[in-house]
Amino acid sequence: MSQKTFLIFFGPPGSGKGTQADMLAKKLNLPVVSPGELLRHEEDSNTAIGRKIKPIIDSGKLVPDEIIEKIILKCFKRFDARAGIVFDGYPRKRAQLDFLIKKLEKIAGKPACRQGRQDYVRAILINVSDKEVKRRLGGRRVCDCGAAYHLIYNPPKKSGLCDLCGKKLYIRHDDKPKLIADRLKLYHQKIKPLLDYFEKSDKLIEIDGEQNINQVQNNIIKELAERAMYDNN
Ligand code: AMP
Repeated sequence: MSQKTFLIFFGPPGSGKGTQADMLAKKLNLPVVSPGELLRHEEDSNTAIGRKIKPIIDSGKLVPDEIIEKIILKCFKRFDARAGIVFDGYPRKRAQLDFLIKKLEKIAGKPACRQGRQDYVRAILINVSDKEVKRRLGGRRVCDCGAAYHLIYNPPKKSGLCDLCGKKLYIRHDDKPKLIADRLKLYHQKIKPLLDYFEKSDKLIEIDGEQNINQVQNNIIKELAERAMYDNN
């Protein structure tokens, strides 16, 4: 595909948007930019930024825009952004959207969200109900070695223990019920103006996220292909 493709994944925590973004990016041969992952890496590496953001992430709140902007600019430098990028979990609020659109328009040299088909930006919303989010995140168990399980969908062979290293599994801090509820509330509060922005120029693709992973991916590809943003050949 010769045109630029910037794809922005939206969806509540636990919607599987990270998994879908990764799968699609591989097929399109594009890099994925996920501030959530990059922030967790800062935390794990115990950098100055990592120490600063830990309490914010642990409380389910959003990290300040200046930190996110620095991360995004670094990614634009690291990847050849001229071909395109798949964004997972960014932007998450109006100010971040404005920052991103300005940046993309500079790279592309033309407006990002004109009405019409000759364009290079699409937003993909993975719809999952709050009830399903609570079921998915509430059942997630992780291990220090990086392995992740789900009590219903992907249980470990021995209850409570990691299949890979045998260590005790635990609940990620921000997967505790009160924090899941807070993260969902924040998501619903912030997402509306972002979806409105893309919907107005007919750039929003909505996908039912309550199907299996491959079905969700196939539906995304189908929708993109219909808009000449995915070449099946
Ligand atoms: P995620 O893995 O995308 O759910 O992100 C985990 C956490 O990282 C979020 O709960 C936020 O605290 C932080 N975070 C991720 N992306 C952003 C963003 N675009 N803006 C601000 N904070 C973010």
